Amino acid sequence: MSSSLATVAYIGATILFILSLGGLSNQTTALRGNLYGMIGMTIAVLATVMGPQVTMAGLPWIIGAMLIGGSIGLYAAKTVQMTQMPELVALMHSMVGLAAMLVGFATYIDPVATAAVTGAARTIHELEIYVGIFIGAITFSGSVIAFGKLSGRVSGNPLLLPGRHWLNLAGLLLVIYFGREFLQEDAGLTPLIVMTVLALLFGVHMVMAIGGADMPVVVSMLNSYSGWAAAATGFMLSNDLLIVVGALVGSSGAILSYIMCNAMNRSFISVIAGGFGTTSAKPTAAAGGEQPVGEVTPVSALETAELLREAKSVIIVPGYGMAVAQAQHTVFEITKHLREKGVNVRFGIHPVAGRMPGHMNVLLAEAKVPYDIVFEMDELNDDFPATDVTMVIGANDIVNPSAQDDPNSPIAGMPVLEVWKSKTSIVMKRSMASGYAGVDNPLFYKENNRMLFGDAKKMLDEVLTALKA
Ligand code: NDP
Repeated sequence: MSSSLATVAYIGATILFILSLGGLSNQTTALRGNLYGMIGMTIAVLATVMGPQVTMAGLPWIIGAMLIGGSIGLYAAKTVQMTQMPELVALMHSMVGLAAMLVGFATYIDPVATAAVTGAARTIHELEIYVGIFIGAITFSGSVIAFGKLSGRVSGNPLLLPGRHWLNLAGLLLVIYFGREFLQEDAGLTPLIVMTVLALLFGVHMVMAIGGADMPVVVSMLNSYSGWAAAATGFMLSNDLLIVVGALVGSSGAILSYIMCNAMNRSFISVIAGGFGTTSAKPTAAAGGEQPVGEVTPVSALETAELLREAKSVIIVPGYGMAVAQAQHTVFEITKHLREKGVNVRFGIHPVAGRMPGHMNVLLAEAKVPYDIVFEMDELNDDFPATDVTMVIGANDIVNPSAQDDPNSPIAGMPVLEVWKSKTSIVMKRSMASGYAGVDNPLFYKENNRMLFGDAKKMLDEVLTALKA
């Protein structure tokens, strides 16, 4: 393929990626957005493999690598459970970081690439390599730790080393110092290797210092980093498409991080600096928050069906437990039944419900819940006082009133769905265990709250049977 044809293909792919991002911003157009992305990526890969930069000798290596990588990706995508999706995404981000690191070292070691540039261009080339490896290493180690935290292999508690901000600052100064060394004539690999180790440690430290409740921001932030790592790789390889796509991913990830921070009422800088969720080190409110008092009122599936039958308006608040139980299809059946009986049923979605941005929307869309009854938290938080029954299905942190009432709570200040303001709230979960942030939930003890204990899918099946009886 000639270089001008490759450029045209790259422009086409870029347009498709932009259309893809636009499509993904809305549920009704998301499928089309995905399709654009898939076509764009196919064009991009073909144009690169058949492009002028690839020689015949290199082709078998590329095809071999694509077959191995593609098979692993296909296997992972086919076997991964919906609840493991956030971990998989974190792992994918780590791969982008690792690729940026490896490309950086390969480009530096490659005698042809190095000999091709001299003078100021050489300095810029080496700077690209240095920065690319730096971003790649942080993305790689940070994503591996995020994977560990999301999968429960690494504790969700923040690791707070004494003088951690000073440690970070010292690390940054060292990185700048070694960067200067690296740009000297015949610097060799040593400054690059030292910086890589520092960046890897920095990535580990950065994510380890972030407490459970702030993990959504970390996920979106690493998403952004992976984009910048890809853009840096594009600079190293002089590949315009990779630069543009990396910048698209990097900036959309940054916007998502900003939205997540707003949703949690945190400042971006404070989350990065770490230390939020400190008190979540202990699984109960004994960690600093107020201890909820009172007794909980359990209900049966039959009583729940009775309450629903008498209700005129119902709000359903899904959370991570709905994903674990795979209860979305039964939720849809109940919704359909109630709507046929004239009940006003709506869904309230918290921006950080579940374990990844948009988690609940994906599940509800999969179950074919109509989009026009699915609302964002802000759109319906004022409607709870006029609601007869609110069903909280496997959600916990996102409906915790201590976020508003208890300034010592690790989730203090995070906006929550005010389900306790409805006439009756019913919380469905298996036990009194806390949610991801590890804090007690005073909602359970409120007078107008009922607890429907058990697996969400099993209990909702029973509710549906009772409703239809
Ligand atoms: P939570 O983790 O707060 O609570 C989920 C609840 O579901 C648990 O208390 C659990 O209680 C219950 N549960 C688990 N399995 C089942 C089941 N089979 N049937 C019924 N209930 C079940 O989830 P939320 O959605 O309320 O809040 C999300 C949390 O995750 C927030 O703290 C957020 O910061 C964090 N997070 C979000 C990310 C995102 O991007 N959205 C990313 C990373 C973290 P029990 O064990 O008693 O059943």
